[in-house]
Amino acid sequence: MKIYIDGKYYGEDDAKISVLDHGLLYGDGVFEGIRVYNSRVFRLSEHVDRLYTSAKAIALTIPMNEKEMEEAVAATVRANNTQDGYIRLIVTRGRGSLGLDPGSCDRATVIIIVGDIQLYPEEYYKAGIKLVTASTRRVPPECLDPRIKSLNYLNNILAKMEARAAGALEAVMLNTQGFVTECTADNIFIVKGGRLLTPHPAQGALHGITMRTVSEIAKKRGLECAESAVTQYDLYAADECFITGTGAEVMPVISVDGRIVGDGKPGPITLQLTEDYRKLVAA
Ligand code: PMP
Repeated sequence: MKIYIDGKYYGEDDAKISVLDHGLLYGDGVFEGIRVYNSRVFRLSEHVDRLYTSAKAIALTIPMNEKEMEEAVAATVRANNTQDGYIRLIVTRGRGSLGLDPGSCDRATVIIIVGDIQLYPEEYYKAGIKLVTASTRRVPPECLDPRIKSLNYLNNILAKMEARAAGALEAVMLNTQGFVTECTADNIFIVKGGRLLTPHPAQGALHGITMRTVSEIAKKRGLECAESAVTQYDLYAADECFITGTGAEVMPVISVDGRIVGDGKPGPITLQLTEDYRKLVAA
């Protein structure tokens, strides 16, 4: 494995950053998870764009422009000879003093790791997964805007632990007003009366690239698709439900907090979108 750090490649054992990097000390940084399908990086410019927007929101200067970043990602994929894989692109605040003031960090650290991903076994795509609502709420935008894909995932990790403790694979996270936001690392959709609904990013969700891609696919199929407020009641009353993310792709949901979604099997629209999404990424 060849790992890119600040313009150079290192083997897995030699790829190291300083213990004084504020990415480690404070989770001060931003990242992207990106897929490679058939040697092509899926929606690279959208991911790089979101990375730079996240960086801008936390006043982090990335020491290269977007085009150079896209080239660095593509070059790292080539260096690893990756046909199908997962890219973790990270920009940390860089090495600084022990205090949290980012002013002590001279230069951001850019890391590109190209590896594998298998978030969920294949059988779950046919059988669907169970969700539970976590008591851990999504950090409100007044505190840290969830559209920033930052290195601070503790909130989501705590919710994920709740899911695992409850015997579910994923957790639904509510915002502090009680509206559904997303899952711990995936967006969520419901289907009701042939119409798709997903929580609006302003409710406290990351503006997912898979979510946008699935909305485009659905619209091409003539399905109405809206970003709006979604409640727990809407989840319980949904005809179908699924989650979307770069790693998970389109994953059917068959129960939420013990309420069976639809007839307890992945719904027809969900299965169609799962298939359409796989065709699109492979094309
Ligand atoms: N929400 C959160 C909190 C995430 O971390 C992610 C990325 N895994 C998503 C949603 C899905 O975003 P995308 O489709 O861009 O991967």
